[in-house]
Amino acid sequence: MNGERSQQLFAEAQKLLVGGVSSPVRAFGAVGGTPLFIARGSGAKLYDVDGRELIDYLGSWGPLILGHAHPRIVAALKKASEQGTSYGAPSEHELELARLICKAMPSLELLRFVNSGTEATMSALRLARAYTRRPKIIKFAGGYHGHADLLLVQAGSGLMTLGLPGSAGVPQETVKETLVAPYNDAKAVRRLFEEFSDTIAAVIVEPVAGNMGVVPPTSDFLQDLRRLTQKYGALLIFDEVITGFRVAYSGAQQLYGIKPDLTCLGKIIGGGLPVGAYGGRAEIMRLVAPLGPVYQAGTLSGNPLAMAAGVATLTELARPGTYEHLERLSGQLAQGLSAAAREAEVPLQIKRVGSMLTPFFTAEPVTDYASAQRADPKRYARFFWGLLEHGVYPPPSQFEAWFVSLAHTDKEITQTLVAAREVLRTAP
Ligand SMILES: *Cc1c(COP(=O)(O)O)cnc(C)c1O
Repeated sequence: MNGERSQQLFAEAQKLLVGGVSSPVRAFGAVGGTPLFIARGSGAKLYDVDGRELIDYLGSWGPLILGHAHPRIVAALKKASEQGTSYGAPSEHELELARLICKAMPSLELLRFVNSGTEATMSALRLARAYTRRPKIIKFAGGYHGHADLLLVQAGSGLMTLGLPGSAGVPQETVKETLVAPYNDAKAVRRLFEEFSDTIAAVIVEPVAGNMGVVPPTSDFLQDLRRLTQKYGALLIFDEVITGFRVAYSGAQQLYGIKPDLTCLGKIIGGGLPVGAYGGRAEIMRLVAPLGPVYQAGTLSGNPLAMAAGVATLTELARPGTYEHLERLSGQLAQGLSAAAREAEVPLQIKRVGSMLTPFFTAEPVTDYASAQRADPKRYARFFWGLLEHGVYPPPSQFEAWFVSLAHTDKEITQTLVAAREVLRTAP
């Protein structure tokens, strides 16, 4: 279990912060016990307030593809902060990051920076409804797109972990235009289009699901979504908040060769600072204020620190060999975990795309929300705590992605696999 100082701090935090945390899954509800308080991060390691060193696979839930406190990011932040932390006026930082993003993802002809992934998806859907003049949207069960009201229907991430069907405080009218289909089920999407054809504004999808645990798209799924949205005059929105610059530099849209109408970004493009962005076809984006009638604004949007951290991150990622390194280490991790589970005769399915992966404790194939839910969260909780005791920090829930960063090396992967074998052998 965790150290004394963490326990003390968590007791104090619970008196001031709701549940002691600033975001629900951090409270460790899914694995039991109480959360570790982190003192600092460096490279692939986290250090808790009790002085323990941990190999980090949380990566702050995705953004930290360079690892913690990368020297280039620290330097970029120092330099930017000395020039002021926010202007509320345009700066070259925005232009620089926008250039890098639009070059990486040509489907983004115009973009807008926001402050979180939640804002990006919420704004993209507002825009899609305005552009198509249609009210309905289709999302997938277990797909998480942030916590905007209209998207809190069978959402993954914390909601899946907590077993909530949606959220209190969201009026029925707000979600009545939100249709839900099973992930990887293009036939279900076709049926929804047949029934509601000219009222569906958009399909929003995580091209690689990351918030029900990692679930890759089956071979034709994304292609089918592209075809169906085109046929019925709806927009295809890729929520690449996790996958953008993660599964490939140019995201899942490059990896799978699909051009979405709109793309939502966050996480990696902020280099660990709060950021989001949405963009796509210029003809659609021109509807956003000040050019058009769709209102969307932000006091801190395009924040110079977040932009500088984003530029530093993408610049590092653009170096040759980065994705090969991530692929090689992540492949080793996945294969090693599979082998350890086989040795211990523990049923395990590893789902992985590049440096995002989830070990699902189930013998059944995992292809969607329903099959992901068959994984055994109790077994995961035992695995989690066992790994933690051996100095490895995975995400505190069965239904989240593990992230490998460029700071991980063969050494960390080997240590992790030694720990995993031991944990699975002694506490299967
Ligand atoms: C994290 C995430 C979001 C929400 O981003 P926040 O910055 O937490 O608001 C949206 N979509 C996906 C796919 C995510 O993983």
